[in-house]
Parts: sequence; structure tokens; C-alpha cells
Amino acid sequence: MRCQRALPFCFAVVAFCLSAAAQAPRDTLREPADYRSAHVLLHTDLAPDDARALLARFETILGLIAKYWGQPLAGELECYVVDQLDAWPAGVLSPLGRAKIANRSGVTTTQTISNRGRFIRGKSIVYATARDSTPQHEIVHAYCGQTFGGTGPLWYSEGMAELGQFWQEGQRGVQVKQHMVDYLHSLAALSAQEIVADDAADGEAKAGAQTGDSWQAYARRWALCHLLVNNENYAGRFRALGLNYLSGAKPRFEQVFAGQLDEIDFELREFTAHVEQGYRADLCRWDWQRKFQDAAKTQTSARILAQRGWQPSGAILKEGQQYAYAASGTWRSAADAEATKADGDFRGQGRLEGVVLSDFQLSEPFPLGENGTFTAPEDGRLYLRCRDDWNALADNSGFVNVKIRGAKGAKSRPELPAPADAR
Ligand SMILES: [Zn+2]
Repeated sequence: MRCQRALPFCFAVVAFCLSAAAQAPRDTLREPADYRSAHVLLHTDLAPDDARALLARFETILGLIAKYWGQPLAGELECYVVDQLDAWPAGVLSPLGRAKIANRSGVTTTQTISNRGRFIRGKSIVYATARDSTPQHEIVHAYCGQTFGGTGPLWYSEGMAELGQFWQEGQRGVQVKQHMVDYLHSLAALSAQEIVADDAADGEAKAGAQTGDSWQAYARRWALCHLLVNNENYAGRFRALGLNYLSGAKPRFEQVFAGQLDEIDFELREFTAHVEQGYRADLCRWDWQRKFQDAAKTQTSARILAQRGWQPSGAILKEGQQYAYAASGTWRSAADAEATKADGDFRGQGRLEGVVLSDFQLSEPFPLGENGTFTAPEDGRLYLRCRDDWNALADNSGFVNVKIRGAKGAKSRPELPAPADAR
């Protein structure tokens, strides 16, 4: 049996981030023309230089997402990218495409041919306004539809399209529209299962009206996808889950990540709290494997890298108890910064700081330094880091070795320097 079906995917309207310059209508309309690159046939009324730049961007995105999903694009993608809708004669654009573009949005339609439920091939066509990275978002849908025959459930489909449109070779830092970052900071809590459950019942992304939901929903989906793609704790499993989605299977997120859901939610909260342009989810990954011991009984030690986020000290603390610590070594909190000890510089950059994790909640961070004592603010596990802006870790270097033990018995442990003066 052969069947054909059309799967339209679309992009939410984000009206307020368009620049005024981009919106200013031209006096004259430019006749649409065809441009071609290795994988894309582009019909557009953009200026020739802009059309060629867009094709180059398409090729970069397609190369990177094909590498991520491990499947080269099948065939050529066809894209209608519209600058001025009035330049397009009636009948050239599909009615759905024209309606989406009039709404300053986009849509990708995919026709698939399958045999006994098995995907044979697909043909995706993109219709998109030239504005606001909409074509780059849609090209990710088009690759998925044409290569795999599907794009997965709505949250995955849209989250990955938001992610893929910004991908650049060798760039692992966050690059996203700033209003999405600001919105994520405003969220008190975000749970992976809530994001997934938003549309898990659908199984597959639906047409038009269903996907015209808020840009805030797109931001939440992007955040979850960005974290799971870039954080090694979850990346392998997430990629396998995605390939299952794309091939039309319906694995359950909660089952695939059973036993890790609390960790994902915790890391997602940390991500939304600290994300900025350039933030590196890979460097801020939490190490959940480290064994911890009661620091009052056993001295613990850890190597803390300047380039990473919070790292396990190995020390379990008791609220109100005093602990002594000493950090040896030097690190830099920027490529061109002076190397400092764990006291950091005069601004506090590069200073060793601590935080206590208990039941997936963090205490307020507190400053440490090269050596001294501190009082545990609560029961829990001590994590340490080199203080720096959260989106500026990548150019840090060096590490310090930190030892921690209960403050009583300091005299019997000469390997720790005496606590420093009060700071
Ligand atoms: Zn979309």
C-alpha cells in the first residue's frame, strides 16, 4: 500500500523582535528569482547578495544537523523565502504558505511516500518570511521531514528547530534571541516533564492552529533541547530518543530518562537561572557520580577547574558546623587575566566559592578563598567553583586542589595550613 500525507509545521510569530530597518518596505518590488546551492533550491525576492548569504547559512545548518542526526539530507530542499509579499504573483505560493507569510511567519509542508508504514521518501517545501530567522528555523523542519519522514512531537520538533537555526561550526555557547533569555530568567521553576507533556498527547506535531502557540512555549522547548543536546549527562540518550521520534516511534520521555528526571529538572533550573549569550551547558554540567563523605570524619579533596561550573568537593556538611579548607594552585578567570590563587582578584573574580546542595535545592553561594574556615549554612553536599560570569567560563584555565575537613582537630592535621584571618 502506498500512501501520501502532508505534514505542515510552522513557526510562532515573534513580532516584537523585528528591527525597524528590516520591516521598512522598499519602494520597488523585486521580482522573485531562483538560486541554488548544494542542497537547496531557493525562490526568493531578496536581493541577490542576501539570497546567496541565506543559502550559505542553510548549507551550514544542514551540514551541522546532518552530522548531529547522523543522516545526510535526502535530495534537495525547496524554499520560498519572501521579503515583500506583493512581489509574488498569485498562485506561486501555496495558500497555506501565503497565509503564514502574511502573518510574518513560516510553514514547512512535507509529503511522504511510505510502503506498509515504512518511510520511503519525503519532499519538504518551506514557505517563510525572510524576517527574524524564520527560514533558518524552517529549514531544520524541512531536513527532518524529507530525511526521516517526520519531525517528532511538537516540543521536540520546535525545540530542535529553534536550536538548529543558530548552530555554527565549533560554537558550543548559547546563541539565541535575547528576549528568550530574559524570559527564561523570569521563570521560577521549569520541569522537563511539563514541557514534554504540553503536547506529548499529540505524538506528532500538528498543523497550523495547533502550533501557533506562544513564543514563550518555544523558549521553554528550546531550553530543554539545548540542555539535553549539550550536557553529556544526557546527550547520548537524548540523541537516541530523537532519532526514535524522527522515525515515527513514540518512546516515552519519562521512561527513557527514568532515574534522571530530578537531575534534569535541577540542571534545567540552573540553566534557566544563569543562561546568557555564550553560556556553555557542557561546561556547567553537574557531576552526579562523585562519592561524598562526612567531612567531619574524613578529610576530602577535590580538583576544581576554573573552566567548569559547580563541581563536587566530596564533602558532606552539617548545618552550623565549622569546616577548615585550603586550596593550592592558581587559575585564570579570563584568557588575558593574571593567574590568581583561590582568593581571586580585587573584584572577587577568580575567587573560590561554595554552595550546598540538598534535596536538589541550592543554598546561597558563599565566598571561600585560598584557606580559612566556614560554617555550613545547611546540611548537604558542598560544591565549589571559580567565581566568574556564567557565560564567560570557556576562556578560563587552571585549577586548584581543595582539601576540606571538620575544623576541630586542626592541629592534628598539619597538611592543612592554619585558617586565614577573618575576611
Ligand atoms: Zn517550527
